Amino acid sequence: MTSTHGPDGTTVSPDDLQLVARQLGRAPRGVVAVAHRCPCGAPDVVRTQPRLPDGTPFPTTYYATCPRLTGAISTLETQGLMRELQARLGADTGLAAAYRHAHDRYLADRAELGQVPEIDGVSAGGMPERVKCLHVLVAHSLAVGPGVNPLGDEALGRLRQWWHPDGCAANRPAPDAGPSLDEASAPDEGEARP
Ligand SMILES: [Zn+2]
Repeated sequence: MTSTHGPDGTTVSPDDLQLVARQLGRAPRGVVAVAHRCPCGAPDVVRTQPRLPDGTPFPTTYYATCPRLTGAISTLETQGLMRELQARLGADTGLAAAYRHAHDRYLADRAELGQVPEIDGVSAGGMPERVKCLHVLVAHSLAVGPGVNPLGDEALGRLRQWWHPDGCAANRPAPDAGPSLDEASAPDEGEARP
């Protein structure tokens, strides 16, 4: 495993980076902090530089890393939750306004890490008008807490328990009949990975 170094001012420890590397099956890139921890103690959302070390613009500032978490979210996606949330977004102006506010907050958090002109005004997950990736929305809600991203909060509330109290080793499948880890780890179409 190659070691990964965050930028100056990084707050992520080498131990946490190693855990994330195990979760992803490769060295993570551009991680500046652990944004949320699983109840098992491992990182499950990381905060990522808006430009990866190789120069690639990276819009997904809050990235879900735990394969058990991402697998549980993938199950929600295959059950059609995105279509349901998209329909409600089009019918509820209050919800649409709150979702747009979540988009603004996402961009404000990213701006703290630097300006990247290529993704100026572009957040992630389909915000502010579409619902394209529940992984992004749930990761946002986990990172900033409830009350900021209404659709992330809703998806989070519908997740089955994904963690294992003894630790969510990346190679241990969830105990129930969720998708296999291979499927669970598949990136969403069009969603870049750090
Ligand atoms: Zn865990």
